[in-house]
Amino acid sequence: MAEIRLENIVKKFKDDVVVNNINLTIKDGSFTVIVGPSGCGKSTTLRMIAGLEQPTSGEIWIDNECVTHTPPGKRNSAMVFQNYALYPTMTVRKNIEFGLVNNKVPKAERNELIAEISEIVGLTEYLDKKPQNLSGGQRQRVALARAMVKKPKVFILDEPLSNLDAKLRGQMRKELIHLHKRLGTTFVYVTHDQVEAMSMGDEIILLNKGEVQQVDSPMTMYYDPNNIFTAEFIGTPA
Ligand code: ADP
Ligand code: MG
Repeated sequence: MAEIRLENIVKKFKDDVVVNNINLTIKDGSFTVIVGPSGCGKSTTLRMIAGLEQPTSGEIWIDNECVTHTPPGKRNSAMVFQNYALYPTMTVRKNIEFGLVNNKVPKAERNELIAEISEIVGLTEYLDKKPQNLSGGQRQRVALARAMVKKPKVFILDEPLSNLDAKLRGQMRKELIHLHKRLGTTFVYVTHDQVEAMSMGDEIILLNKGEVQQVDSPMTMYYDPNNIFTAEFIGTPA
């Protein structure tokens, strides 16, 4: 089980309140999308869930354990970044293996795990290449594979497709949905694109100015918006 709860979460940078008292439950096994305009606090919220940023006040719970002060490596979560954050001089294999840093998986098992995961994300033939010789889509897959070797209970993805062209983005959306079904783990996915949110999420959290506007299924969001902001944001094409 990996249910995530945010309780009264406030995040300030100096005097700027960027997350203003958020209360949320992200359901176990869901594909939850956090969406909202640029600067509304999506990445900050994700980074607090991942443990890369500390809330100014409030609590974060994963699986009925309070993790507010638990370091990122001990939260059973893995984050995939927008810019992939790959090591350019390391091979794909090494980049993926880097996900296992501090992990005592024996060498043979390690290689088996890397082989298995490379197969799932379609990188088997690229393991000896360097990221600079890969396409954007392939780099994205390396970043995913590096998160997957940890076998986390929670995948945290911050605008992972925004550097891809429209066609590849469409394909990767389908692949990510498929991957979520296959793994059955909780995905928390951030995008500023409401079309992406609506097509991928089974639950959508709409943020504006650091506050939650609505949490619902895509259908309910669209047909039964709580307020004018939701209606306009969800109804307006990108
Ligand atoms: P989003 O991901 O929705 O675009 P962010 O969470 O990145 O928004 O940022 C929310 C607000 O917090 C923005 O106004 C941003 O400038 C500010 N912010 C984010 N990180 C920092 C930081 N480390 N220091 C100061 N301000 C920050
Ligand atoms: Mg962001």
